Amino acid sequence: MIIDLSMELSENILVYPGDPKVEIKAWSTIEKDGYYMNTLFMGEHTGTHVDVPAHFIEGGKTIDEMPLDKFIGEGAVIDVSKLDRDILPEDITGKAEIVLFYTNGAEVYLSEESAKHLVNLGIKAIGIDRPSIDRDSRAHRVLLANEVVIFENLVNLEKLIGKEFTFIGVPLKIKNGSGSPVRAFAIIKEK
Ligand SMILES: [Zn+2]
Repeated sequence: MIIDLSMELSENILVYPGDPKVEIKAWSTIEKDGYYMNTLFMGEHTGTHVDVPAHFIEGGKTIDEMPLDKFIGEGAVIDVSKLDRDILPEDITGKAEIVLFYTNGAEVYLSEESAKHLVNLGIKAIGIDRPSIDRDSRAHRVLLANEVVIFENLVNLEKLIGKEFTFIGVPLKIKNGSGSPVRAFAIIKEK
């Protein structure tokens, strides 16, 4: 079974404070031009997206330089929605290549220690169902400096709790890009 983990991209999508608003304009219509096409204007970090090292690390890898392998892996969801504090290393249990945090909108963020712990576990990527993993950029810096990529604004993570699945969230190959919108999804392993 496939679970879609992506937000719908539209002009109404909420963007991170200070980021550009999305514009989707008709370029051509079947009625006038014989074919239908839109143009898109948006930041690289709009909707469900992935951050790569160059987003925070001077000289870090850009999105076109990251191996596709970073965006695909065995996933696990950790439910942090009931925590009344930030995520600590002891909350990170189980084994996965890509660790996803389900907050259900709770004000729960990844601490710098947890980011270091995730780097030590040797994971490829982390993800969260919020616009950002941290309040400042400290967890971002730790993860990106170690080439752990960060998925933000995922949805439907509650459907993956306790499940074994493969996560896939592949970006556009934007030359010198700092990130990209992704179509993220999970393929649940049937037992
Ligand atoms: Zn981002």
